[in-house]
Amino acid sequence: MSVKIKNNQSEQFASDNNSGICPEAWEYMLQANQGSAPAYGNDEWTQKATDYFRELFEIDCEVFFTFNGTAANSLSLAALCQSYHSVICHETSHIETDECGAPEFASNGSKLLLAKGENGKLTAEAIETLVTKRTDIHYPKPKVISLTQATELGTLYTPDELLSIKETARQYNLKIHMDGARFANAVAALNQSPAEITWKIGVDVLCFCGTKNGMALGEAIIFFNKALAEDFDYRCKQAGQLASKMRFISAPWLGLLETGAWLKNARHANQCAAYLENKLLNIDGVEMMFPREANAVFAKLPEQAIHILKQKGWQFYTFIGVGGVRFMCSWNTTQSRIDELVNDIKNAI
Ligand SMILES: *Cc1c(COP(=O)(O)O)cnc(C)c1O
Repeated sequence: MSVKIKNNQSEQFASDNNSGICPEAWEYMLQANQGSAPAYGNDEWTQKATDYFRELFEIDCEVFFTFNGTAANSLSLAALCQSYHSVICHETSHIETDECGAPEFASNGSKLLLAKGENGKLTAEAIETLVTKRTDIHYPKPKVISLTQATELGTLYTPDELLSIKETARQYNLKIHMDGARFANAVAALNQSPAEITWKIGVDVLCFCGTKNGMALGEAIIFFNKALAEDFDYRCKQAGQLASKMRFISAPWLGLLETGAWLKNARHANQCAAYLENKLLNIDGVEMMFPREANAVFAKLPEQAIHILKQKGWQFYTFIGVGGVRFMCSWNTTQSRIDELVNDIKNAI
């Protein structure tokens, strides 16, 4: 059997979700496809994967799976908020700019309160300013801080920054949600244990992305604060996020975890981004926009060069202002493809 559809054979740098399924996830998928298994998460793959998360995070936590990150973020935020509450997030956060209002929809109206902050990061001060600005009944009550690690601008919260945010959260009785679309890249880059940068700094719930790390689809929602997970399975089901053949999400997750591919993939993506950054730094006319700390490189290129690159078939996003280009690396990025890109950039300039 063969189909006539062909992928563009060479990797692109538009997003880490342009990549395919990594071999480890694929292998476990194949194994899960032997014979039949109980549905709705009552299978052994799901049991093993959720146990593995408890081991990895060194804590007894509640684990759920959804199909994508928008659902993971929205449903977990809804579990942390009443409709009259608000969520403090960075103005560039995915929940604000890229989820079509899903967090507000899932929570029946919890408002997102936007803060500014250098390099895509919230600060303890910015959070405090928002929380203390209004305390009257006419304003939605701040309840949650949402952090993205690594951030939408490819930067990282350091352990010290996380600690100071934890202190602010404690002071104002705020919960902490972490959008971990690139959590693996953050762990790899910071060289910290997963526990160190989540529940130990007060994170109540983490959305840990499998898709960008090398799966076909599937996010793990990890409640370190188990009380907040009450009835969360019903919330997922109502939202259409309970996979009936759950093993095809949990088995590839187990593949990533058991083989260590989740870290290997993230390290590779980070190293590719570092390599690309180094090459770009040597080109006159290219300027870095943000510190390169994980698997994203943001660069300013002349408009004309961007035009030429697009004409040559390169795909990338330019949504961060005029002249800003985002290059994302993933588990399957190759050095030769980076070299091709760098060459074309040189020629275009
Ligand atoms: C990719 C991404 C998500 C998830 O997006 P989906 O398309 O819904 O899977 C969430 N947060 C961030 C920061 C992302 O980059």
